[in-house]
Amino acid sequence: MNLKKSAKAFAEAKKFMPGGVNSPVRSFSTVNSTPPFISHGKGQLIFDIDGNEYIDFVLSWGPLILGHAHPRIVKALNRQIRRGTSFGAPTLLETQLAKLVNQIYPSMEVIRMVNSGTEAAMSALRVARGYTNREKIVKFIGCYHGHSDSLLVKAGSGAATFGEPSSPGVTRGTAQDTITLPFNDLKSVENVFSQCGEQIAAIIVEPVAGNMGLILPKENYLRGLREITKKYGALLIFDEVMCGFRVSLGGAQEKYQVKPDLTCLGKIIGGGLPCAAYGGREDIMRNVSPDGKIYQAGTLSGNPLAMTAGIETLTALLEENLTEKIIYNTTILVEGIKASAQVSNLKIQVPQAGSMFGIFFSESEVTNYDEAAAANQEMFRKFFLAMLEQGIYFAPSQFETLFMSAAHTQEDVANAIIATVDAFEVCQWLTD
Ligand SMILES: *Cc1c(COP(=O)(O)O)cnc(C)c1O
Repeated sequence: MNLKKSAKAFAEAKKFMPGGVNSPVRSFSTVNSTPPFISHGKGQLIFDIDGNEYIDFVLSWGPLILGHAHPRIVKALNRQIRRGTSFGAPTLLETQLAKLVNQIYPSMEVIRMVNSGTEAAMSALRVARGYTNREKIVKFIGCYHGHSDSLLVKAGSGAATFGEPSSPGVTRGTAQDTITLPFNDLKSVENVFSQCGEQIAAIIVEPVAGNMGLILPKENYLRGLREITKKYGALLIFDEVMCGFRVSLGGAQEKYQVKPDLTCLGKIIGGGLPCAAYGGREDIMRNVSPDGKIYQAGTLSGNPLAMTAGIETLTALLEENLTEKIIYNTTILVEGIKASAQVSNLKIQVPQAGSMFGIFFSESEVTNYDEAAAANQEMFRKFFLAMLEQGIYFAPSQFETLFMSAAHTQEDVANAIIATVDAFEVCQWLTD
């Protein structure tokens, strides 16, 4: 594959930006390779500046559930952009999106729009602390909730990939208020709460974890978190920034029938534009300024472009009943990948949750961060590069999750499966 122009562009970008990128994982440093510079996308496809074409299973890390440049979104954005891009004043669009979110996530009775998942999780925590008048929070090792200080402790994904579980610049004082526990281990949560439950404001969790690779919650795990938090008067925050609209339309809370106090949404909610939201129980959310004293604001929050893209995306998901079809195609792909690994005699894990899936080069099931970290990264690297070479764009780290969109066809699925046959063979050579 020719990546000449991308290599040149990358060298130039590196002069002006750390790693040549604006978010670390994009640099492909984990796989020791040049990232293709993207020129444009259409549906399930992306095209780089060297003229290579890829079937995209990253989808901007999740948001593009309708695919790239969906005609419906393009049309609506075109209409809106001529009417102005931001007013810093109320518009009808904000209420329209809030209503849609509330319809799909009834637990989000009152909602505040923000611009990124980072902001949503950071603000939800502030609300939890302000409401309970407690300072400590519990998060799980390998769960990522954006890059705000108190949450950048044992975070997964980019942070895990780069081996910086906590970042320089996060003060010890901040980190001290964050209790980190292994994912999928109720016993450890019970222990901590029995020691200092009265000081804990909230548990924040990715109910389906997608930032240490894809890891599903064990049976009754989420229900257990709900019971413990209730018992000690702490809040339960579901960070559904990634798994929302994917595990099922109504997210993990719908799929597992557990009602959190607060929920964070992002990624899909903005239809590819910067947008996120947090919300939940009315009695809690009424403490947010100007109804209450907990301050949180944003110059571009709820801007008409992001609202428009979000409204179009959620309306399409609802009206066109797309979720089932996307999940069905994901299942075919996942089963195909498993079969193809068997042909190569490779023991791998291919977890799936709705339209999310992942690949671990591990012989046994992966249920927490330590097990994810023990999977064979070198083999993943070979696999990833062999897939890219065949025009299949997967995420360059096994700590990331892969996504399907409504634009992917069964032919795309078949092509991806065929590519894995070759890629697994390459991995097989490596093990011999
Ligand atoms: C992506 C992600 C975030 C951060 O969202 P940004 O928009 O990148 O700030 C937070 N939580 C989860 C679960 C995510 O997947």
